[in-house]
Amino acid sequence: MSRAGSSGLPGSARVVVIGGGVIGTSIAFHLAEAGVDGVLLLEQGSLAGGSTSKAAGGVRAQFSDPVNIALGLRSLRAFEDFDRRPGQQIDLHQPGYLFLLRTEDEVEAYQASIRLQNSMGVASRMLSAKQAAGLTPAIDPGSILAAAFHARDGYCSPESVTQGYASGARRHGATIRTGVTVTGIDTRGGEVTGVRTDDGLVRTGTVICAAGAWSMQVAQWAGVTLPVVPLRRQILISEPLPAALEKEFPARMPMTIDAGTTLYAHREGPGLLMGMSYAGEEPGFRWDYSDAWTDDLTDAMQRCLPALLDVGIAHRWVGMYEVTPDHNALIGESSTTSRFLYACGFSGHGFLQGPAIGEVIRDLFMHRTPDVDVSAFTGDRFAAGNRLMERNIV
Ligand SMILES: Cc1cc2nc3c(=O)[nH]c(=O)nc-3n(C[C@H](O)[C@H](O)[C@H](O)COP(=O)(O)OP(=O)(O)OC[C@H]3O[C@@H](n4cnc5c(N)ncnc54)[C@H](O)[C@@H]3O)c2cc1C
Repeated sequence: MSRAGSSGLPGSARVVVIGGGVIGTSIAFHLAEAGVDGVLLLEQGSLAGGSTSKAAGGVRAQFSDPVNIALGLRSLRAFEDFDRRPGQQIDLHQPGYLFLLRTEDEVEAYQASIRLQNSMGVASRMLSAKQAAGLTPAIDPGSILAAAFHARDGYCSPESVTQGYASGARRHGATIRTGVTVTGIDTRGGEVTGVRTDDGLVRTGTVICAAGAWSMQVAQWAGVTLPVVPLRRQILISEPLPAALEKEFPARMPMTIDAGTTLYAHREGPGLLMGMSYAGEEPGFRWDYSDAWTDDLTDAMQRCLPALLDVGIAHRWVGMYEVTPDHNALIGESSTTSRFLYACGFSGHGFLQGPAIGEVIRDLFMHRTPDVDVSAFTGDRFAAGNRLMERNIV
């Protein structure tokens, strides 16, 4: 990597990763660890400052699509080993994920997913309503038919994971620059030649787009279509729970999710973290908190976990889901612009896939066959009329 003038930004790099969230830092780590020289990661704000720091931190292998199951399981293994590689404490809790099922259709679909998960080495299982209420006593067992559970799922700190990958990448020789905005990508004859930034030009033959909700714009600079739109999502953090509610939501409760409404809650220190999708939300970068979801949220709590209505709210935040037309990620290399690789559009489950995506993009960059076949996740699938079906999306 050659040095530029006064700004300190390298004048050239072998590969430029755009975006310093969990995906970009994981990619930079896996590339540098594999011995790739000249890895440069550019982040316009601070590391994890995009969607990653807004995530609920949920990690799981309970999906219905085999690729998502494989990516989730590989990543779970990496999270479990994170204090050794890359070497960072990430506050991993594994009390499981518990999906509450209210209709026969849901039970049937989750049973089919569990059969597939079991065949791939994920020890998920069906629980009775009574067993589910044994794990999260706030559930009214009369209100559900059954629940799907995987004890190895859980949650951990998105900021720590990102910092861990960034530190590991630096240790292996990667350069990470924050506060640098990419403003364009230069191509010639269908090949990447450079990246323009607000701090000068970097010559490079490879760009990897890990720009989260901003990825559509980044891809357009390279003449590539990646249909990713931002969608506001909100999270509430409760006040510390009083003793009576501690019994309803014990410290070891699983991440508990109502499959029908997507209302979810897990313990966050002395309180709870809660969220839900809101059907009335329109795409766009909207960073202000909105009360529009309140009626839907209250209805879902009433139906599913009524004790949540007694919890006091201490604070809240807003983040962006990076949504694709079929709510599944875009992963691959452009078929039109050589050496433009991308990993984006995770539609709300990108944190948990971060470790496996770093491995996959490393292998694609190095012209190796990735252990997980992500070819169905190509960004070209929509133009070809293909969509992926994933049922377990929150
Ligand atoms: C409320 C909420 C809850 C969530 N809960 C979960 C969960 O429990 N589990 C889970 O797996 N996922 C969850 N997610 C989704 C998860 O946060 C994302 O899928 C994941 O963080 C995506 O990571 P990323 O690195 O692709 O994107 P980001 O973290 O957004 O990183 C992209 C980065 O690119 C940078 N960037 C963009 N354009 C440029 C440019 N031109 N130049 C330089 N830098 C640029 C941005 O500043 C940003 O930091 C949640 C998301 C939200 C909003």
